[in-house]
Formats: sequence, structure tokens, C-alpha cells
Amino acid sequence: MQVAILVLVVLAAAGVMGLIGWVRRAAVAPEPWDANVAAELAREDAVPICHRCLTPHHAMSYFCPECGAPVGAYTNCMPFLYLFSIGHTLRIGTSGEFRRSPLTVAFFFLLGLAQYTLFVPVYWIVLLRGLTKRNQSRIPSGPVPSLPETK
Ligand SMILES: [Zn+2]
Repeated sequence: MQVAILVLVVLAAAGVMGLIGWVRRAAVAPEPWDANVAAELAREDAVPICHRCLTPHHAMSYFCPECGAPVGAYTNCMPFLYLFSIGHTLRIGTSGEFRRSPLTVAFFFLLGLAQYTLFVPVYWIVLLRGLTKRNQSRIPSGPVPSLPETK
């Protein structure tokens, strides 16, 4: 019995080592942008912008000064500040301004349930009101449009 367990442990260790070697040998995926954009990103004076509203912000800010989105590198991991990130995400759901798919809508329903538990019906009502504002949304639904070629 002990020999069988030892053989299984050795096989598992060999499998893990093989998996690690396979990951290390894997080809690195190229960046989705060209060399000009990569050079612009590497410049010392490059200014970070908000991922939601594209407003420039200070590199050390935790939240966008324009829309309140969490923009700091570790804002979502910091005790206390992550609560504001969750609140911002929940507000995106109630605003109705997000790319809608069955997955994102289900995500907002489940996130509301996880955050509000007993009070979730109130959030769901506000969420459904936001979802009915479909034609007023600034963000279109459907697939992400591709950028035109710049050459
Ligand atoms: Zn913003």
C-alpha cells in the first residue's frame, strides 16, 4: 500500500514538473498593439488614463477624478478601498451603461446577491430599471468593434 502511494506521489511530482516545463517553454503572446504604441507606453512622461472614461489621472490616484472608477494598480486589493470599487461596479449595473450580454447581466444579479443578501430585491429593482434604459445607453451592446487599419 505504501509503495503504491509512493509511486502515485512520484508520478504526481513528475506530472507537476512536466507541467511547469511546458508552461516555461510556451511562446510569449505578442502585444495586440504595434511598435509605435509600445514605444509611447514606455515613455517616462506617459500619462495613465481611466479605463472607463479615458480621462488622464495622476499615477498615484486610487480613483478617477472624473467618473470615480477605481484606477489605482492595487485599489481593488486594498482593505477599505475595495469596498468603493465594488460600489462602483454595482453602480455601473444600475446605470445600465455597460456592454450587455446574458453573462454580464447574470454577473450583476449575482454580485448584488453576494453584497446585499437580504436587501438584494431593492438592488435588483434598480438594476432592472437600469436595464430597461437600453436605448439611452452610451455603450452599445453586441460584439466589440474592431479598430480600422492605420497604415
Ligand atoms: Zn474615469
